[in-house]
Amino acid sequence: MSVPIKKRQRVKVSRYEPCPCHSGQFYSKCCGLFHSGVKAPSALTLMRSRYAAYAMHLADYIIDTTDSSGPQYEADRGKWKDSIESFASSVHFDGLEILEESLIGSEEAYVAFKASLRDVRGNDCGFSERSRFFFKADKWLYHSGVPL
Ligand SMILES: [Zn+2]
Repeated sequence: MSVPIKKRQRVKVSRYEPCPCHSGQFYSKCCGLFHSGVKAPSALTLMRSRYAAYAMHLADYIIDTTDSSGPQYEADRGKWKDSIESFASSVHFDGLEILEESLIGSEEAYVAFKASLRDVRGNDCGFSERSRFFFKADKWLYHSGVPL
């Protein structure tokens, strides 16, 4: 059975608007760099740029920064993309608070964060997570997360 796919629009953020990761910086000086191809220099910057990518419905960025050996990786890219877009379209990305960053050597890191989210009815659906990242083939990748 196939599920009807609604056409969804990207959320546009211009260069001099605040970054959707809530850093307080201009988008072009923050996650915009990573969304346009600059490699995130740390697990923390990758994490922030993934939050901003969710807020902007950039499903390809989420997929391309997920470790293929992690539990969230899906072989069916089209289906995965659609599920990211439907999640991103169903919530407002109100805030991001970094609680802790820890490095395990140079190729593994953890970032604990609190994401403030609201669903379309205005109900709080935020969550906190400790995410695990690995540095592989010259870039940081999201591997998995544990709820806090
Ligand atoms: Zn940012």
